[in-house]
Amino acid sequence: MERYLATLDHEELYARRGPRSGLFTIVAVHSTVRGPSLGGCRMWTYEDNRAAIRDALRLSEGMTLKSAVAGLPLGGGKGVIVVPAGEGLDAKRRRHALLDFGETVERLGGTYVTAEDVGTSTADMTAIATQTQYVSGLSRRSGGSGDPSPFTAQGVLHAIEATVERTFGTPELKGRAVAVVGLGHVGLRVAKLLAKAGAELVVADIDRSKRAETDRLGAAWTTPAKAMTSAVDVLVPCALGGVLDHDVVPQLQAPAIAGAANNQLASADVADLLRERDILWAPDFVANAGGIVNISVEFEPGGYDPERAKAKTREIGDTLRAIFDAADASNTTPLAAATARAERNLAG
Ligand code: NAD
Repeated sequence: MERYLATLDHEELYARRGPRSGLFTIVAVHSTVRGPSLGGCRMWTYEDNRAAIRDALRLSEGMTLKSAVAGLPLGGGKGVIVVPAGEGLDAKRRRHALLDFGETVERLGGTYVTAEDVGTSTADMTAIATQTQYVSGLSRRSGGSGDPSPFTAQGVLHAIEATVERTFGTPELKGRAVAVVGLGHVGLRVAKLLAKAGAELVVADIDRSKRAETDRLGAAWTTPAKAMTSAVDVLVPCALGGVLDHDVVPQLQAPAIAGAANNQLASADVADLLRERDILWAPDFVANAGGIVNISVEFEPGGYDPERAKAKTREIGDTLRAIFDAADASNTTPLAAATARAERNLAG
């Protein structure tokens, strides 16, 4: 299991079979030191229930780190609804699973607040909200912060600018060659923002249906493997985790990396390898915090305000600059500097 914080143990782990759906619902509360633990509800198929629990434990720890480094008044948690392998859920059982999960969240009495994640949507939060008050990310119409992806994408753009500035001396993106790998909810939005800023794009996705839209942006389409190692100024990983490993990093040509994908490093020591190769990597849990920053505004006294969310998302660039400064000053990697900043915020 990948661990960035070795000294903090989880506060709570709750696993419960949903009485309506018969499916396991799991909540891991890693830390409430800075506030209620917040993290999405993942609806996913695992090898077995142990793997699902491991995932909840790992992801909740990641959320503690993400919120702490951004200075948010939130802790780290994660929910999982385990979908049995080979059993597709029909609409009724799926809804029952969401209601069961909502009940599980309510039983924790507010130490965990759920949100959307892989396999769940803003609409699903409405179903969960019939069983618990501890839900965020409801639609804007219901007073919630809505889809987090636009804010994640905006935050990634600020992270790219900060990383480009540190690498090339100016944050200007006009004329910069940028490769975006993964064109989903976040990646496609990042590609559009980059195109608007005048960057020259190379893009890739395993789903070829994404090509039409990126053609309209004037982007050059290639395979994910080629995009990863193309001779660009910036690499922007926006698909899955584990893409930076000991095989790929020696082949990279981009001197700067900043993207949305969670857990980009296959192992923590890849951060050292990147540094040895003089490649500046924006820690993923700093660069992709826009979604959680957006949700955090729901917890402010005045309630959710999109303008406030935009302003707070902009701070991601400043946080990253401070992390790059700290890494330079202590002759260490951005990963080590970001982790130290999170630990300081947790202690203070
Ligand atoms: P998504 O499922 O909408 O998009 C992922 C895209 O990546 C899809 O288009 C998929 O076809 C593509 N893809 C999958 N495997 C690929 C591969 N090997 N090579 C190239 N493309 C591949 O997901 P998303 O919401 O856009 O999130 C993208 C990443 O950002 C994930 O790692 C997610 O955990 C992370 N993230 C998302 C948010 C958010 O607000 N949605 C917030 C923080 C982090």
